[in-house]
Amino acid sequence: MTEVVILGAGYAGLRTLGALQKSKEDIHVTLVDRNEYHYEAADLHEVAAGTQERERILFNISDVVDPDKTTFIQGTVVNIDREQKTVKVTNQPELRYDYLVVALGFVSESFGIPGVDENALSMVDVDQAVGIREHLEKQMNEYTRTQDEEYLKIIVCGMGFTGFELVGALVEARPQLAKLAGVSADKIKIASVEASTRLLPMFPEKLADYGSKHLADWGVEMLTGKRILEIKPDTVVYQNGDDENDRGEVTAKTIIWTTGVRGSKVMTDAGFSEKRGRVMVNKDLTDPDYDNVFIVGDVAAAMDEDSGRPYPTTAQISLVMGHLAAENIIHKVNNEATKEFTFKSLGTVASIGNTHAFGLVGKTAVKGYAASVAKKGIMDKSLLETGGMKEVLSKGRFDFYH
Ligand SMILES: Cc1cc2nc3c(=O)[nH]c(=O)nc-3n(C[C@H](O)[C@H](O)[C@H](O)COP(=O)(O)OP(=O)(O)OC[C@H]3O[C@@H](n4cnc5c(N)ncnc54)[C@H](O)[C@@H]3O)c2cc1C
Repeated sequence: MTEVVILGAGYAGLRTLGALQKSKEDIHVTLVDRNEYHYEAADLHEVAAGTQERERILFNISDVVDPDKTTFIQGTVVNIDREQKTVKVTNQPELRYDYLVVALGFVSESFGIPGVDENALSMVDVDQAVGIREHLEKQMNEYTRTQDEEYLKIIVCGMGFTGFELVGALVEARPQLAKLAGVSADKIKIASVEASTRLLPMFPEKLADYGSKHLADWGVEMLTGKRILEIKPDTVVYQNGDDENDRGEVTAKTIIWTTGVRGSKVMTDAGFSEKRGRVMVNKDLTDPDYDNVFIVGDVAAAMDEDSGRPYPTTAQISLVMGHLAAENIIHKVNNEATKEFTFKSLGTVASIGNTHAFGLVGKTAVKGYAASVAKKGIMDKSLLETGGMKEVLSKGRFDFYH
């Protein structure tokens, strides 16, 4: 029997699992994740803002494990020895594999900027997202005790896709937060700090401007062209434009870091040929150094021949990669040629709260409520591919008519 070990039960890992469990080959799978649940990472911002309950974005991994074909181990992967074909998981005997699928996802990247780890909140897993929500609630309560308006201020560092969606969710959460603090919604001040002046380069400029304008109209202070130099307690220090001597500061009791992500640290610790935790994979998604190791999702960089740059890290791409890794393992087991990775986007849509969004579906620009429906459709499709119809029916977003 062929032993396949999958590391990570995110979008990519679960997609590989689903396809391998359907296969008729004599394959046993061991799936490892540090949590007993899978979470939809692309919805973390809603949990952080408090507009979505934690339980709505996760389901038990055991729901999708076929015990006849798969063993699930809850534990943290600490090392991979590709020469010996073994994996070290905390408090577990060493795992042995014939084929390995590494799908360990992303972690927060501070780019070495001082004070980020100590003084800003990051949002890369469910516990951190819940931690942000609890922190916000605590600040609102502190305001009622002190009447200090710093407790009502929120700064989001980085206005990439994640920062943008988080700010949108925070705008939507403003009335609830204001209620906790006993103030009117306009007293909750949301600001973002971003180095670039051209936001969301994955969208045409007009479309990105549409999103920015909405946030500005809703009272978000957008500080663009400001490179963050340091995070001090309750303070973001930045440089204005290119002038090193032109510095400024903004203050708030809540500072959230969404400036960047990198691939899992395990990739570095285990000696993969990586850059910022991502490995430039072969066309069939194998590791350039070991052809029985597949690397998928946010730890993989696959070259997009059209743009000449690696594909971005997205849930959609992770799902396609996860499926191809399973197909290619089956090809290898049968001594057949493997397939190359190709990707056709369903569209990229950024939400601004629950009822607004904007983006591209194919090459068509979509905006407003219709875009928000498209976004929910894309997210439901992801859930279908990781959790199946059962999870879509219990967690899917069908609240289209609000
Ligand atoms: C707020 C936000 C919004 C986003 N919006 C979108 C969007 O609209 N569309 C889109 O396509 N993409 C979006 N993304 C990006 C998308 O979430 C990622 O590209 C995607 O999650 C990557 O999938 P993955 O399977 O590689 O990793 P992950 O989803 O990160 O899963 C990794 C899994 O590995 C486990 N794990 C990690 N380290 C270990 C370890 N050492 N031991 C054991 N288990 C471990 C984790 O618990 C997790 O289950 C968004 C991301 C964020 C943060």
